[in-house]
Amino acid sequence: MTDFFCYALLLWKKGCVHVELIQLFMLGKRLLRTEIPFPKHELQPLIENQTLMLETGLINKNGKILCRRCGNKDKSLLGSHPCAKCQSSKCMYCRHCLTLGKISSCQMLYRWTGPQLPFPKVEAALTWEGELSSGQRHASKQVRQAVINQKSMLVWAVCGAGKTEVLFEGLAEAFLHGHRVLLATPRTDVVKELYPRLKKSFPLIKMSALYGGSKDRAPDAQLVIATTHQVMRFYRAFDVVIVDEVDAFPFSFDQSLQYAVEQAQKQLSALIYLSATPDHTLLQSSDIETIKIPRRFHNHPLPVPRFQWTGNWFKKVTNNKWPNGLNKWLAENLAQNKPLLLFIPSINTLQLTSAFLHNESFSHQTVHAEDPERHEKITQFRNQQIPLLLTTTILERGVTFTNVQVAVLGSENDVFTEAALVQISGRVGRHPDYPQGDICFFHNGKTKAMMKAKQQIENMNKEAGFK
Ligand SMILES: [Zn+2]
Ligand SMILES: [Zn+2]
Repeated sequence: MTDFFCYALLLWKKGCVHVELIQLFMLGKRLLRTEIPFPKHELQPLIENQTLMLETGLINKNGKILCRRCGNKDKSLLGSHPCAKCQSSKCMYCRHCLTLGKISSCQMLYRWTGPQLPFPKVEAALTWEGELSSGQRHASKQVRQAVINQKSMLVWAVCGAGKTEVLFEGLAEAFLHGHRVLLATPRTDVVKELYPRLKKSFPLIKMSALYGGSKDRAPDAQLVIATTHQVMRFYRAFDVVIVDEVDAFPFSFDQSLQYAVEQAQKQLSALIYLSATPDHTLLQSSDIETIKIPRRFHNHPLPVPRFQWTGNWFKKVTNNKWPNGLNKWLAENLAQNKPLLLFIPSINTLQLTSAFLHNESFSHQTVHAEDPERHEKITQFRNQQIPLLLTTTILERGVTFTNVQVAVLGSENDVFTEAALVQISGRVGRHPDYPQGDICFFHNGKTKAMMKAKQQIENMNKEAGFK
């Protein structure tokens, strides 16, 4: 049984009213009535004495409608319909955060304003005994300082620098002071991967992992690991907020997720951004100090991409002809039993290329965001049961495959931004036993993004002290 339900049972046995339970459940949250599992008669006294504050979900600000939960102001993302509850023929609702439950003009958000539960001050919360590289050590100290001084900072760590470990000292410091911490990341996969790692390193800390479809089994968790969407349920809850992969979709494109992070932070709090490829707005922001980790944890340089002109690869593949150099690249690497990742710009071109390789008798699999078997295929590729995997940009980040060699077909395509290409290149040489490897951009015309990606990787290597 989880702590929350043990506690609930204890209170119930003692004959306590549900106030403590409601407080626990509402801790730092702002929720719709439908999200609160307590009957009306138990909430009513708390509403009357304003321990539970009710706020309209949609605010009318100078004639503009704003969603209080997600910050959406975009008219095109607001809908309206006839509503039985408020009898209005045009009850407005926010479509932008609909997946968290519908917020409409007549819906209220419930927020706890009563006393806040203190979190335990945990000494020596960190049990991890690994060693940090010198770059990690330096960044780790700065993260700890940011936690102590409640400042904002950016950790710019190259792919494979080991950024999670860089957080450990800062987290330990936060728990020592009884602080509550949020780690927000754009992808569910990362939440699922980080949870057991952090649980192992901080066994005494109560944690929860929140993503679409997950249940909040520990509403009083001191460390919350959540997808950026789930952050929208919190309000002034955290002393330390860490935003992982701040440049990654959907965070960088989505103002509302930035709004959510601002809402979830306490007024006095530390904010730490992590990225291997921060965008320019963040780098130019004057109140955010940047710490770089240009060296990978295994102390080898980042593999630098090389370029191979293919001619009109799309036309060639469609007409069952090889784009220049691709045949050789595949055959040579496969002969050495090296696992190969081939990035392709779109699902359509992925399928075309797959059909062509099939004709040429190259055993392979394909994977993309809408593929229901994507998790199984990624596992099979990791276990070297698939020699060659064709993928869209979904595998550009967050994955590690031992000794993988990587190519991009059609790297001139717009989907391959500078950041995407740096991330893709960052898949190569991550394992300390195989720190080198090939990264090749097969293209029909060099783009700025390709040149800048290469430059960025070379600059980081230079900063790390490699030739
Ligand atoms: Zn909304
Ligand atoms: Zn209504």
